[in-house]
Amino acid sequence: MDIISNFKKIKENVYNINQNAIVIAVSKTFSLDQVQPLINYGHLDYGENKVQEAKDKWSKIIIHNSKLRLHMIGKLQTNKVQDAVKLFNFIHSLDNEKLAFKLSIYEKQLSKKLKYFIQVNFDNDQRKSGISPDRIEQFINYCKLDCNLNIIGFMCIPPLGANPDGFFLRLKNLANEYHLTELSMGMSADYKNAIQLGSTFIRIGSSIFGNRS
Ligand SMILES: *Cc1c(COP(=O)(O)O)cnc(C)c1O
Repeated sequence: MDIISNFKKIKENVYNINQNAIVIAVSKTFSLDQVQPLINYGHLDYGENKVQEAKDKWSKIIIHNSKLRLHMIGKLQTNKVQDAVKLFNFIHSLDNEKLAFKLSIYEKQLSKKLKYFIQVNFDNDQRKSGISPDRIEQFINYCKLDCNLNIIGFMCIPPLGANPDGFFLRLKNLANEYHLTELSMGMSADYKNAIQLGSTFIRIGSSIFGNRS
């Protein structure tokens, strides 16, 4: 398994469609030793879905690699917000008022400004993360006006097994409606569709690092 050639192939596929799109190498469950070749190669963007794992893996190395950018792509619990604000540059999973409020408090306290994607849930499945489309307007206003968070775009995870294209299109339309330029959509299985439909941040794990155990 050659991580670098996997990565190069994906980057080439992505850049053929959108040269400015960012490939996030999703390193969750993989050790720093396993990720290190890609860091040495010069790749800067990495995704994690658990704060504690990310902290254990990355907190030392980012001190000496200030250009690295860490992306929180998983559910963020409010009791982990302080660590998250210290560690991450991007949060892709902003989806509730309490979380937004806490993020704003720690941004002030730590003098940091992160970049945020609001996670959208088109499913109407209450168990899933994300804001439903009919609550977006109210939520985005709260995040921007009350919490002063830098909202750069929307993120979605289409339901497993469904054709993702309709979801990607809806997310793109939503971003246009709210004049947001960034879209976090597309994973190993569907990133080509996502990039065709306007994604600017794709989140790739297994196609780079191999299957997670
Ligand atoms: C794990 C994960 C990914 C990467 O998935 P792959 O199929 O391995 O590319 C992308 N986005 C989120 C939110 C994830 O949790």
